[in-house]
Amino acid sequence: MRKERIYLCLAHMSGKEMDFIQEAFDTNWVVPMGPNVNGFEKDLEYFVNSREGKAPLDKKVVGLSAGTAAVHLALLACGVQPGDEVLVQSFTFCASSHPITYLGAVPVFIDSEKDSWNMDPDLLETAIKDRIEKTGKKPKAIIPVALYGMPYQIDRIMEIADRYGIPVIEDAAEGLGSCYDGQVLGTFGRYGVLSFNGNKMITTSGGGALICEDEASKNEILFYATQARESYPYYQHEHIGYNYRMSNICAGIGRGQMTVIDDHIAHHKHVQELYCELLKDVSGITMHGNPSDRYDSNFWLCTATLDPDLKIKGQENAYRKVITGAVGGAAGVTHAASTATTDCQPNDNVEALRVALDVANIEARPLWKPMHKQPVYRNNPSYTNGVSEELFAVGICLPAGPYVTDDDVRYIVDAIKESIA
Ligand SMILES: *Cc1c(COP(=O)(O)O)cnc(C)c1O
Repeated sequence: MRKERIYLCLAHMSGKEMDFIQEAFDTNWVVPMGPNVNGFEKDLEYFVNSREGKAPLDKKVVGLSAGTAAVHLALLACGVQPGDEVLVQSFTFCASSHPITYLGAVPVFIDSEKDSWNMDPDLLETAIKDRIEKTGKKPKAIIPVALYGMPYQIDRIMEIADRYGIPVIEDAAEGLGSCYDGQVLGTFGRYGVLSFNGNKMITTSGGGALICEDEASKNEILFYATQARESYPYYQHEHIGYNYRMSNICAGIGRGQMTVIDDHIAHHKHVQELYCELLKDVSGITMHGNPSDRYDSNFWLCTATLDPDLKIKGQENAYRKVITGAVGGAAGVTHAASTATTDCQPNDNVEALRVALDVANIEARPLWKPMHKQPVYRNNPSYTNGVSEELFAVGICLPAGPYVTDDDVRYIVDAIKESIA
């Protein structure tokens, strides 16, 4: 058995981060603005604006304290107010939808389609029509999510959104560097959300960014990210603002990370390829890959689905014990679970595989539980087709990222094969 645990996605430093941080200390820029923030934003702009075989775009980027803050400010800038509705992909991490509630608005959940696992454009249009009919007003924004890095059908989503005049906020927090038709995610909609949390494609320890259409919309976001201060010699406030700007120290880490972002993405793709290769003859396990040439996922996490008939050793004992503490140890889970099971959970074979990998010192995790099945959102409207619930029942996330070596992937695949009864 391996002594060193293999994690889902660990932060990986380039070695240049400390130079940028040192410079911030040497020049006394230890504040939530400064040369590293400006430099990091420039690096990000260069990265997201480049396109395959086409002239670069001219989007602007604002560095923020978290991806969640980016979602929050994008919604604010789209004019979301108390009582408004926002259409959001149900199959996502809670940071896509929680900020809607911060504004007193209502998340309306849209299920996924089978190819990309992301927002189903047909359901999106059904929902828009139905919300207009039921409430007499248009939803204020649409949030598709690049789950595990996989692009959504952005061409169809934009066509529908434009036809109804509803702005799109792309949640590309997991999809930094993923492309659709050769264009970087986050640059199609009115706003694009990025995250640099410790487990994402690159990290600033914690942080995020918002991709904006132009300088004016960047300035608007900056205004709200820095407590909405008007230009007077004294503090003058005509709007409510937030303290969401990125720290110059964190941005120093980001600048270091930008020197290896291409390597990181290439490595994630390589790990995905290796899983596919090594698992192709294992019946009952299917890797989730790009549905067509138009998709170019960064494979932030590699994901697989288990045939419900696949027997995993010990699955008869799955969910016998109430979990105490955090699954995987990375998340700050402080509430103890009150029950060993819920009415919507992964199949027994998926849980048994997770436990088998855990015993082999490998971190694995179920897919994200759809928001429309979360108790906190039980009263929210949702437009469903069963796809995300079904995927949640059969799916599992496997380790990816720069620290996962070819030998690690072989070790993980061997552990998977050994767990099959
Ligand atoms: C991580 C994540 C976010 C939020 O990012 P933070 O930087 O952690 O606040 C938003 N949406 C999705 C889908 C994410 O995975």
